[in-house]
Amino acid sequence: MSVRRGGEGRRTRLARIGKALENTYGRPERRTRRDLVAGLVSTILSQNTTDVNSRRSFQDLRERFPGWVDVESANVRSIESAIRRGGLARTKARRIKQILRDIHATTGKLDLGFLRRMSDDEVFAYLLALDGVGVKTAACVALFDLGRDVMPVDTHVHRVVGRLGVVGHPRTRDATFEALRVVVPPGESLSLHVNLIRLGRDLCRPRDPGCAACPVRSECDFGRSGEAAEGP
Ligand code: SF4
Repeated sequence: MSVRRGGEGRRTRLARIGKALENTYGRPERRTRRDLVAGLVSTILSQNTTDVNSRRSFQDLRERFPGWVDVESANVRSIESAIRRGGLARTKARRIKQILRDIHATTGKLDLGFLRRMSDDEVFAYLLALDGVGVKTAACVALFDLGRDVMPVDTHVHRVVGRLGVVGHPRTRDATFEALRVVVPPGESLSLHVNLIRLGRDLCRPRDPGCAACPVRSECDFGRSGEAAEGP
């Protein structure tokens, strides 16, 4: 087995990719940690929508309901009405209400501060047990709200990482997440996550990727193969 195929080789290659992306997009700053319930709810609101609409629906929800207990006790239709601008409002409203009820039932309050004292695996086990919380949502809360060194995999990260070939070509986002989890260089989860998404939106689009201008083409299996130059 070549060095490149081993975990250390993959980690080194990811480190080079991360550095090249930072040279292009900069190194993202870690956000201030916030109310963890707010973090979880805003991540649910971000599912299947744009950043702009996600932010708007979260603001609308906070303006309509002064506290999480008010959301928990509201009927689904009024939550749905408040978050309409984010899309999938009925589904998200049901999820948010049920999650708040579950948190309240299991902890006696609407506070997820106890997650800060848990290991990464315990955090994932707790969050994944909540209805409507998948691996990506749990990983986003772990990274952005708890400051853990885990890298969420959304559709952009999955596509770009698959083309890069740095962990092979996992079929699903969750498989990509698991493959990356053991090879992302320590401390680089936030930077790689944010900048791979930027690359995915900017150049490594689903169709017609802009490989000629790509800062990581020299590290990319797809970009080096010449397929990109010939087009889909
Ligand atoms: S070289 Fe092309 S396929 Fe590879 S990451 Fe860059 S844009 Fe995507």
